[in-house]
Amino acid sequence: MSQMNARAPKGTSDLLPDTARAWEHLTRTAQELFARYGYEPVYTPIFEHTEVFTRGIGEATDIVSKEMYTFEDKGGRSITLRPEATASVVRSCLEHHLTANGQSTKLYYSGPMFRYERPQAGRTRQFWQIGLEAIGMAEPTVDAEVIVVLMEFFAAVGVPAGSMTLLVNTMGDEVCRPAYRDRVAAFIRENSADLCEECDRRSDTNPLRAFDCKNPGCRIVMADAPLLRDALCDDCAAHYAAVKGHLDALGIAYVEDPHLVRGLDYYTRTVFEVKAEGLGAQDAIGGGGRYDRLMEQYGGPPTPGLGFALGFERTLLALKAAGVQTPALPIAEVFVARVDDSVAADVFAITQELRAAGIAAEMDHQGRSLKSQMKAADRLGAAQVVLVGPDELAAGALTVRDMGTKEERSVPRVELARALTPRG
Ligand code: AMP
Repeated sequence: MSQMNARAPKGTSDLLPDTARAWEHLTRTAQELFARYGYEPVYTPIFEHTEVFTRGIGEATDIVSKEMYTFEDKGGRSITLRPEATASVVRSCLEHHLTANGQSTKLYYSGPMFRYERPQAGRTRQFWQIGLEAIGMAEPTVDAEVIVVLMEFFAAVGVPAGSMTLLVNTMGDEVCRPAYRDRVAAFIRENSADLCEECDRRSDTNPLRAFDCKNPGCRIVMADAPLLRDALCDDCAAHYAAVKGHLDALGIAYVEDPHLVRGLDYYTRTVFEVKAEGLGAQDAIGGGGRYDRLMEQYGGPPTPGLGFALGFERTLLALKAAGVQTPALPIAEVFVARVDDSVAADVFAITQELRAAGIAAEMDHQGRSLKSQMKAADRLGAAQVVLVGPDELAAGALTVRDMGTKEERSVPRVELARALTPRG
């Protein structure tokens, strides 16, 4: 039979055990941290009706207009693989009335997202996110809480504080943003000769996105564009000031970036992004913001909310750039090695006893030489090796070798599990 193409599709990759273990470490860290703040897990489907994203994220955004994996299912429905999870979580809250009658909910998620983007370092078509959403709460304290959780997460997994920057801004609301949007659109039209074609086109559909254009010429022009910061309504100005006040009180370092506009239509008021050093163009490791009108876009009642999402791959890149090793737990704590094949059944029985005692124990199932078994023990990170041979079994005492010091001691067979159980 001819060989099939064994490569994963462009822009995707397998999380092999080393990376998968890092993912599990990050998700465990998130679970413990988020639980301390009262967030509960939620799992929404990986695909949704396309409308969840077109209505929520906005038709004129890059995600919806260019990057969605959309297809018709066998029942003729338009289905889209989720490009992000906020829209899905808000849809789920509406479906299950989680925020009905003024209730609030705090939820977190983790899993793969899908965007048809041009792959490059830190940008893939299937990527992994961890995120949380605080829905039903309007007060600025919750904005500060969400930002603090994000920064605490990065600190907990080891991203050095000095290698990341928290950017904050406000996007205003339906009172102050429309007039501002029109001013930016007019500014773009006045300067269209010096802007790229896409920014020019955006003046009709999504003018604020011109602030996000990577084109150096556009950046120079947009640096002189009017700032929303100077045109906020009183409520948005007060909210923004309060959020910054809470961050200051908590000692959270941030930089105000009046040009920070996140690429989704649903944001209102507070937006934020964390950038890390050493990542090149794709340097945002996490970000989020408020979306006080999103539930209404789905036909639900006015419901404030905000959240963040952080990217797994870029967090790993940031750790690597900062020279931080993700902690790797040993795959096996103890390796039970056989001196010859005659004791294979005993080795299996001893390994099982250790596992039953709660010890991560491993053995060889391939009839390998003692030397190869010792190499395997090393590769698995085993701190101790139990050597089992006919003489040891006859004497009722096994040899335990410490892989660090190379010292050996004799342990009575019946006391083995107790002798190997880590104290403390
Ligand atoms: P966003 O939903 O675009 O705000 O993205 C939130 C986080 O997800 C970003 O800060 C990145 O860390 C990560 N992310 C977004 N898009 C990609 C992608 N195509 N590949 C890898 N990571 C991504």
